[in-house]
Amino acid sequence: MATQQQTFHDKLHALARNYWWCWQPDVVAVFRDLAPVRWRELDHNPVLLLDEFTPESLEHRGREAVLHSRVNYAYRRWQEYMTSQHTWGDTHTGLLGHNPVAYFSAEFGIHESLPNYSGGLGVLAGDHLKSASDLGVPLVAVGLFYQEGYFVQQIDETGWQHEVYPFVQNKRLAIKPAKLPSGETVVVQVETRNGPIHAQVWQADVGRIKLFLLDCNVEQNTPEDRKLTARLYGGDQRIRIRQELVLGIGGARALTAMGYQPSAIHMNEGHSAFAVLEFIRARMVEDNLPFDEAMQKTVWHCCFTTHTPVPAGHDRFDWGLFDEHLGPIADQLGIGAGGLVALGRVEPNNASESFCMTVLAFKCSRTANAVSNLHGVVSRRMWTGLWPWRSEEEVPIGHITNGVHVASWLAPQMKLLYDRVLPLEWNLRSGEPAVWADFENVTPGELWETHQALKNRMILFARNRMLRRAERLGLPASETTDIHNCLDPEALTIGFARRFAPYKRADLVLRDIELLGQIVADSKRPVQFVFAGKSHPADNNGKAILQRIFKLTQEPGFKGKIVLLEDYDINVARHLVQGVDVWLNNPRRPLEASGTSGQKVVLNGGLNCSILDGWWAEAFDGRNGFTIGNGRNHTDQDVQDDRDAKSLMRVLHEEVIPLFFDRDDDDGLPQAWIARMKRSVRTLGWRFNADRMVMDYVEKAYIPAAGGLSSDMGRLP
Ligand SMILES: *Cc1c(COP(=O)(O)O)cnc(C)c1O
Repeated sequence: MATQQQTFHDKLHALARNYWWCWQPDVVAVFRDLAPVRWRELDHNPVLLLDEFTPESLEHRGREAVLHSRVNYAYRRWQEYMTSQHTWGDTHTGLLGHNPVAYFSAEFGIHESLPNYSGGLGVLAGDHLKSASDLGVPLVAVGLFYQEGYFVQQIDETGWQHEVYPFVQNKRLAIKPAKLPSGETVVVQVETRNGPIHAQVWQADVGRIKLFLLDCNVEQNTPEDRKLTARLYGGDQRIRIRQELVLGIGGARALTAMGYQPSAIHMNEGHSAFAVLEFIRARMVEDNLPFDEAMQKTVWHCCFTTHTPVPAGHDRFDWGLFDEHLGPIADQLGIGAGGLVALGRVEPNNASESFCMTVLAFKCSRTANAVSNLHGVVSRRMWTGLWPWRSEEEVPIGHITNGVHVASWLAPQMKLLYDRVLPLEWNLRSGEPAVWADFENVTPGELWETHQALKNRMILFARNRMLRRAERLGLPASETTDIHNCLDPEALTIGFARRFAPYKRADLVLRDIELLGQIVADSKRPVQFVFAGKSHPADNNGKAILQRIFKLTQEPGFKGKIVLLEDYDINVARHLVQGVDVWLNNPRRPLEASGTSGQKVVLNGGLNCSILDGWWAEAFDGRNGFTIGNGRNHTDQDVQDDRDAKSLMRVLHEEVIPLFFDRDDDDGLPQAWIARMKRSVRTLGWRFNADRMVMDYVEKAYIPAAGGLSSDMGRLP
């Protein structure tokens, strides 16, 4: 990596092949400035962008746009980052030794150009890797490579969602074949009762972190199995168990083949729980141990994070599928499929209970955690059956509240403000409250102008998205004119974007259409809504909710004031969380385990208006946002929905709207609103960021798992 010999061309190509670039505003800006229009059209994929240049044309363009010193600087910073020995990890993860944590997840949301995620779980995993990299925590990650991603969402003229599956060409992504120490590419094999499944392994570099993605599209597989990992969460239960077999057992084998001996194994959600079985098997062989002993020794190193407070949301497999796929390893473990199935049951001997991945993960981990304080309470209640001799409070499931990766979600313009008022190198200490306290010193006018600029940017982005759809559908010119005039930069702008799972109740605000109509019709105090979100391809209820919202956006009185953006992804999310005034979150309590999108909004000065669920239940202090409802649940879903809808309208009408339009006579600024923005950043930024989260995982899960210390999250018997 000698800097001297590297040309402009080499440096740009090297930067494009480590996802570190995507959380460096200056490097993003270099790629953008190379070819601004193509940059947008190519989904911000620098590998694709650079492909469009010859070495000569790149050199020429570099001179023309005066990019050489910016690239030299970025490249040097990157080299320093990659080799730094003064990280938090260097002083806090000594107990892990040279053996990294192995982090397993079915999805990873790193950047929009790598469509390997469906929603919050994946983005959380991506943020985890980025913070682990920034902090210098030794960690390797394992997932699957989905050649067709989740899906691209298209909304037709009637508002119905259609799924499009673009085939992602591997060579157009920043991934490369993973290599064995011998230099050969990694191919793993997993047995089933009906023959083996093969997978090759791709490597994506995420700063200092290596992310390994298993891909079943290899010659050795049957035509059917070549498509096994094509789509994330696509297909039936059979595809699901085969994917999870490849992720867990295949992933563990890949790590071993590459020479990794993980000090801790972290299962992010239960999808990857089969990994533990492979580690147990390997230990039985290596140390010549019986199953029980090998299991005890392996489980000692395992940590599990549960994300799902909905009983139906946990993967379960019937006996036929289970035996076909787990039979071979169960035989190797010496307990047979009949013995192994008991590890996935709350009541081991209950033959009518199907095999549950979450149960397996709980039984095979030393520490287990939920993802918010409230989710911890819910999870302990939900899983008391696993520890019938313990009281609910003593169920050994702790919690580590989710957080977001600051550098990925903070707008560059807002970062300039941070850089000015927060202590030097605040980004290296973003888990400390004292570091964020200085945000109080931002001048109100400056904060407001910065926010306003981001809001304008978001509005332009939204119009562009809508124009793209209008063009695809060939909508009439009048429609295009309407789009150019939609969304008012002066209006109170409320955002709602996330997966359209029914429990998230995207249509809650539509429950009283008449009142909603009055709210958006008030010309003195204009209010507007921006919606976005994908529904799972098989979820027709979710699609119906989407369609309902779409139809409203077409009605006179609502048109241009309520808009729906197509194809929610990390890019859309970034624009929305950076540009809205208010972020609306109204899940059916207590079904939102944590939620993270509102945390992204916090960083950029937007205010949360949320049900007291997930992270918000421990975040709201009365003056750092707005709360819907009183934190109580009702057994009748309809009653709860009605009550929450009324409360939501009341909060908008009596608190949010008046505060936003309460302007100072002298400078025209909403002083009380700005005070709330500051309080939100100051009280929430340090807690709900991924650096703090990863530091918690290191201290409460990884170090105990690696070094045998006890954890205050509670140990499984
Ligand atoms: C942050 C994020 C999410 C998670 O949103 P929630 O409101 O927590 O469900 C989902 N999708 C994308 C693309 C995100 O960036």
